Order: sequence, then C-alpha cells, then structure tokens
Amino acid sequence: MDLRQVRLIMDLRQNGIQDVNVLSAIEKTPRHLFVPENFQEEAYENTALPIESGQTISQPAVVAMMTEAIVGDKRLRVLEIGTGSGYQTSVLAQLFRRVYTIERHGNLLKTAQARFDKLGLHNVTTRLGDGTKGWPEQAPFDRILVTAGATEIPEALLDQLRIGGILVIPIGPSSDAQSLQRVRKEADGLHVEDLGLVRFVPLVGEPPVR
Ligand code: SAH
Repeated sequence: MDLRQVRLIMDLRQNGIQDVNVLSAIEKTPRHLFVPENFQEEAYENTALPIESGQTISQPAVVAMMTEAIVGDKRLRVLEIGTGSGYQTSVLAQLFRRVYTIERHGNLLKTAQARFDKLGLHNVTTRLGDGTKGWPEQAPFDRILVTAGATEIPEALLDQLRIGGILVIPIGPSSDAQSLQRVRKEADGLHVEDLGLVRFVPLVGEPPVR
C-alpha cells in the first residue's frame, strides 16, 4: 500500500471512523482506478473529485461515514442509488453479500461495471434507470444507500426497505448542502437520526440517459 493510502486511513480515523471492517474495505479499494486521468495526483486526498457527466466521486470521509451508518451482518443485501464512479459500490461489495446499484447515466454505469469486473467484484448487480423508483424485482432490501441529494425520501425506497432495515439519504432543499439522514424502519414506524451536513449532486427523478 502506498503512503498516500496510509495517510488517508489515518485521516478517516481522525474523522471519527472506528469500524475496522469499514476502514479495511476502504484501505483495500484502489481509489485511483475510480478517478479520471487528470486527477490521479489527488486520488487519495480526502476530497470529492469531478467525474464524467458533471457528477462527482464522493469524499472518502463521507463514503466511510455512510458505510459505517449501515454496516451490519455480512449476509445483508444492499441497494445503492447513484453508482457514479462505482467507488462507494466497491466498498459496499466487500462488506455485504450482494449489492444492487442503479445509475441514470449510461456512460458512468458502463465504466463502473468495467471496474467491478477488473476488481473481481462479482456480487455487484448494476442497472441503468431512475433510482427513485427503486428495484422492485429485488426488494425488499436490508439497507438502502442514496448517494445523491434529495428533497424528500422517495416513497418507493421506503416501501422496498425491510422492517428492521436502514436507509441513509442526504436530504435538503438545495444542492449546496443536505443533512444526512439515517432512517430505521420499524413495525411502529420510521425512526430518523441526523448524521450531519453533506454535499451531494442532486438526485434526478427522470428517465435514464443512454
Ligand atoms: N457513489 C458515487 C457518487 C456518485 S454522485 C461514487 O462513489 O462515485 C451521484 C450519482 O447519482 C451520479 O452519478 C448521478 O448520475 C446519480 N443519480 C442522480 N439521480 C439518480 C437517479 N434518480 N437514479 C440513479 N442515479 C442517479
């Protein structure tokens, strides 16, 4: 492992990330493979970076925090909305039995799929589509992670979450900042916890771009 990667992990620890399995999954994920050519120098910096189609690869500290917020038994099935570069997906694939991920930009999904193949992550299933509708054929899910900012929680995602399951989603009125919400679905209703401010590109509830 190179020095930059060691430094990143130390940085995440200082940011309060404690789960050893989460830290280890991030340590084993070669982020430079998910970052465009002209940003290779910054691949292991703790910052978000631009990718194709005006989207971003999330900041490692945010990936770590969101992953820590849903981590649990290794046998769980996860739905991710917003594949983007596939970086967050790859971290999840090491911690869960199966990861379903939906992206609305065909070019991003194609590149991400090639990365999963290259890394041998055979427990990832991808779909081009509008993630606000979820993936009814594969529901219910134990965990749902939305990596784009929404104005409200899409109803379909709550419907497709198992009782006892957890949904993590950035919610806010603008794309400047959102509050990261952790929603636990129990038989008696929803229990919401605020995990702090984050900044994501918008969740776009429209047909996919092929
Ligand atoms: N998890 C990604 C971050 C991606 S940024 C990573 O680690 O790189 C958010 C992504 O959500 C973008 O690629 C955007 O195209 C996608 N997105 C936005 N709205 C969507 C929707 N309704 N369905 C699926 N993907 C969506």
